[in-house]
Amino acid sequence: MNAPTVGEHLRAQGISRRDLLKFCTVAATAMALPASLAPRIAAALERAKRPSVIWLPFQECTGCTESITRAHGATIEGLIFDAISLDYQHTLQAASGTAAEHAREQAMKDNWGKYLLIVDGSVPTANAGYGTIAGVSHLEMLREAAKGAAAIVALGTCAAFGGVPMAKPDPTGALPVSAIVKDKPIINVSGCPPIPIVITGVLMQYLTFGRIPDLDALGRPQAFYGQTIHDRCYRRPFYERGEFAETFDDEGARKGYCLYKLGCKGPTTYNACATVKWNNGVGFPIEAGHGCIGCAEPRFWDKGGFYEALSTGNWGTAKTLGAAIGVGVAMGAAAALSARVRQRHMEKKA
Ligand code: SF4
Ligand code: SF4
Repeated sequence: MNAPTVGEHLRAQGISRRDLLKFCTVAATAMALPASLAPRIAAALERAKRPSVIWLPFQECTGCTESITRAHGATIEGLIFDAISLDYQHTLQAASGTAAEHAREQAMKDNWGKYLLIVDGSVPTANAGYGTIAGVSHLEMLREAAKGAAAIVALGTCAAFGGVPMAKPDPTGALPVSAIVKDKPIINVSGCPPIPIVITGVLMQYLTFGRIPDLDALGRPQAFYGQTIHDRCYRRPFYERGEFAETFDDEGARKGYCLYKLGCKGPTTYNACATVKWNNGVGFPIEAGHGCIGCAEPRFWDKGGFYEALSTGNWGTAKTLGAAIGVGVAMGAAAALSARVRQRHMEKKA
């Protein structure tokens, strides 16, 4: 019997075409595609075969897995995530020991050259014993699984850029996936953790278009990482007017002023938090009164204090707050312009 398509699988889960269309409209907007493309995305998704996915969690905190599995309720993106054939994920699967490893080996053999490999966590390289699964080092398992993969998703900042395990003094010699695998397409989905709808959006793009999305210079999907938090932050008008909270409980903080002076890294952090938001679109950290700590960027842990203004850390080259604000405004304008150009380009392509 043929394996069910994503559409068949979703229908079996009780998802109506109307619900799927609604989700595709939201996802199209998040991917900077015209909402009018939603029916075509939905049709392509319905026809798509469920790809085999092998997910290897390495040196991580399980936050990336939590991010996707703790989506509130039975969301459509959760069901689309279900709609892939997740053949191995040792944190989630019921099987363990020899049976689990056999499942991984079998899935790789049956889908050689075609499966999608998801990796979360960085890879310890200082000593093979620092991270092992069934007696196989993380490094060896990654190399072996990467050989038969069609593409790799480096999920979370640890897999994409080394993240917290690679922070000084980096006792395990942690490396990101891209430092080890050089001959496969790699999609870096950074964030500590990444936003659930960004994870499913990337999987959906792969399912819908059958290819990896357009990436930025750091290998991240441009649709989600094409603009900074600052570009789309609702506190931006306060920034432009020079109205800043000086402490977390002053009058400025109460009035919702910009959090730049309290260490917000929004101006140099590329992620979709300000647009797609967290917790099913309820909000994002800046709405809760805390600045962005730059978790989607390389070396975010080492670049300077989370509560130090950008101009005083290693995040930018600006020497003074005034200069930093000028740089921020210029970056914002440049990013907004490039986003408009990119959107027109993507609309033409679509
Ligand atoms: S500095 Fe932070 S709080 Fe202020 S506008 Fe930019 S992203 Fe928003
Ligand atoms: S607001 Fe900044 S620190 Fe917070 S999740 Fe988004 S990118 Fe990460």
